[in-house]
Amino acid sequence: MTSPLRTGSLSVAGNTSPLIGVLALQGDVREHRAMLEELGAHVREVRLRAHLEGLNGIVIPGGESSVMDKLLRIFDLYDPLRRALSDGLPVFGTCAGLIMLATELEDAIAGQETLGVLDVTVRRNAFGSQVDSYETDVVVSGVPGPPLRVAFIRAPLVTRVGPAVEVIATLPEGEVVGVRDGSALGVAFHPEITGDDRLHRLFVETVRATGFTVAALQTA
Ligand code: GLN
Repeated sequence: MTSPLRTGSLSVAGNTSPLIGVLALQGDVREHRAMLEELGAHVREVRLRAHLEGLNGIVIPGGESSVMDKLLRIFDLYDPLRRALSDGLPVFGTCAGLIMLATELEDAIAGQETLGVLDVTVRRNAFGSQVDSYETDVVVSGVPGPPLRVAFIRAPLVTRVGPAVEVIATLPEGEVVGVRDGSALGVAFHPEITGDDRLHRLFVETVRATGFTVAALQTA
């Protein structure tokens, strides 16, 4: 039987060193960890339910969403993570992480599920098999300064955006590659690979301003 999480609490905002988890079942965990630590956050790799307790935010990295989805279930993390996110745990998903956050997928593998945090439809591997990866500059609203240099790697695209969701990044042809709904951010690319930390900075600021903490797990 799964033991539910109690609703997280809203604490005094402005925690200067928030505790940010990086979902560490699979994918490019190390790069996110390094960037968040550079920005003054405490980082915890999340592999078990107990690792959710006390988090102020979580990053879902790039990798392979269908594998991540399976591992979430095997590690008994799917339900508690979904609950923490729906209670308001700030989240930043990159590439496969964006796929995990969507409510709806195109080109999912059979049985693939998501965490359903962002009301968007995401098409997996939307650039086709020829375009394995490339780097480009993307303007992200809320990120000051010049465009971000980012990497697209077997990247998805957002093909439908729900009414509550804000588009924060598009490609020159108008394809949506970044979305936000309050403290939930998702981007189709990898900002952690090219060394530009401004999106992580935006997320850490969002985590501080939100002041959410995942409450203790109930053991009953
Ligand atoms: N194509 C991968 C997937 O479907 C995502 C690729 C990535 O995260 N770089 O999950």
